[in-house]
Amino acid sequence: MKYPEDLPSIPVNYAEEKLFSPEINHLVEKRLSKRFEKIRRDARDFSEKFIYPSALKIDWIIKNEDHDYTPWDIVKEGMKRGYLSFMYPKVTGGKGGLTAEFAVLMEELSAACPGIANIFGANALGAAAIVFSFNPDIWERYLVRAVEAEKMGEPVIFAWAITEPSAGSDVEYDEGLEKGTLTCEAKPVVGGFRLSGRKVFISNGSIAKYIVVKAATDKKRGRETWSTFIVSSSAEGFRVVRTEYKMGQVACPAAELEFDEVFISRRDTIGPVGSGRIMSKLILAASRGPVGAISTGIALGAFRLAAGYAMREDTPYSRSIRNPVIREILVEMFNRIRTARLSYLEATSNFDKLLLPPRSIMDGAEKPYRALTPLIRRENILEKLHRIGDKILERYFDHIVSSGKLDAQYKLASSAKVIGSDTAVWVASRALDIIRPGDHPYWLAAQKLYRDAKLVQIYEGTNQLNKQSIGNFLLTG
Ligand SMILES: Cc1cc2nc3c(=O)[nH]c(=O)nc-3n(C[C@H](O)[C@H](O)[C@H](O)COP(=O)(O)OP(=O)(O)OC[C@H]3O[C@@H](n4cnc5c(N)ncnc54)[C@H](O)[C@@H]3O)c2cc1C
Repeated sequence: MKYPEDLPSIPVNYAEEKLFSPEINHLVEKRLSKRFEKIRRDARDFSEKFIYPSALKIDWIIKNEDHDYTPWDIVKEGMKRGYLSFMYPKVTGGKGGLTAEFAVLMEELSAACPGIANIFGANALGAAAIVFSFNPDIWERYLVRAVEAEKMGEPVIFAWAITEPSAGSDVEYDEGLEKGTLTCEAKPVVGGFRLSGRKVFISNGSIAKYIVVKAATDKKRGRETWSTFIVSSSAEGFRVVRTEYKMGQVACPAAELEFDEVFISRRDTIGPVGSGRIMSKLILAASRGPVGAISTGIALGAFRLAAGYAMREDTPYSRSIRNPVIREILVEMFNRIRTARLSYLEATSNFDKLLLPPRSIMDGAEKPYRALTPLIRRENILEKLHRIGDKILERYFDHIVSSGKLDAQYKLASSAKVIGSDTAVWVASRALDIIRPGDHPYWLAAQKLYRDAKLVQIYEGTNQLNKQSIGNFLLTG
């Protein structure tokens, strides 16, 4: 086989539909179930046209030829379908999608290639704090303008930067922030902050126009001063140091970023100083469900490969569905996928019910808001709106913490992430058991998914840390 021209398309067989009819789903109300199906159908169409034919080639190119290659053509096609602005409130021109809907999209795209899916996933993660800012000033300057650029055919990518070289797990829980391992610092200066330090493993970090950065304003008091900032990739003092050589999900770049005295204006902070801890917890309570969905998608992709392979006429009996042992393994794979799917659907639907800004905000009419644009865009008005936004955010945080909603959701989402990612690794491993080594393209595609699967046990907090943070609740009260 001469690479990469000869690399085949990934074969797809929606074998799971022989076992489960998605339309018969009593977990969610009918209307939502229909929306899920529409999203799933669109994602399948997108995957068949753009991902399955090229995912193996893209992986090969990035690993062997052009380490910094980004499949922009695919990103742009996804952008046209609203995959970048999926979670932006409708008033900003976005789709106003629910977390559960986004998760369904992630599952189906990840079944084809979780690396490509994660470009859209990491974008949503990056934009999440901006969405939850409740801040018309920030919405206007980032989301509205991103959607406007999209309309001109220009993707605007966001990234979320929390991990530091010596603080990975430590930045994901309160006590960790007190350990003194933080190196990034955003020192208060006139009119804003000066950010210095490095962030590592940042998905989309090298292709993002805007990076939402978490940093302490006093690194010795990480817990109390942990805050949220927006940094433009064109800011003076910002540099992409390098992109990682990854084992899996290679289509989505993970970058090390340097901030050398980068000035951040007060208006590019999200929420008051010190609100970063609650913001991080909120983002993780939102995003760990969709990571469960990415994981479920990886498992589903591996199941489709294994079942498709086993169903071929020329597959040897020992690996064929004619063999009851193989059928039993496939059913076990499928059962675990269903468990992972139910877990992420529960976690994301719960998030949408408990914590997503009210539908009136996400779904609000775009036209009346747009009519106000000339007024809103006046700088002095935007500045005032910014302060009002900060106040709303403070109240919202007080409410979700004191009501216990945030903790409740955090546990569910962390659990869905762990269940999903362990399922992904297990199911991808079984696919490699069923498919005979060297039987391409099934074998190549299953190998890729196995490598892709490992990462979901690591990002958004390692599974060990996720289980610890759930387990800690056993000690309380
Ligand atoms: C490809 C990739 C993409 C990523 N994307 C992003 C991104 O977009 N944005 C971002 O901010 N971060 C991102 N991350 C970072 C990711 O969230 C961290 O890698 C993860 O939180 C683990 O941190 P660490 O790598 O420093 O490992 P460490 O924290 O050093 O952990 C190493 C090991 O020790 C264990 N461990 C650590 N602390 C404890 C403890 N207290 N008790 C028990 N065990 C412990 C961990 O479970 C793990 O097994 C990404 C990482 C990767 C690999």
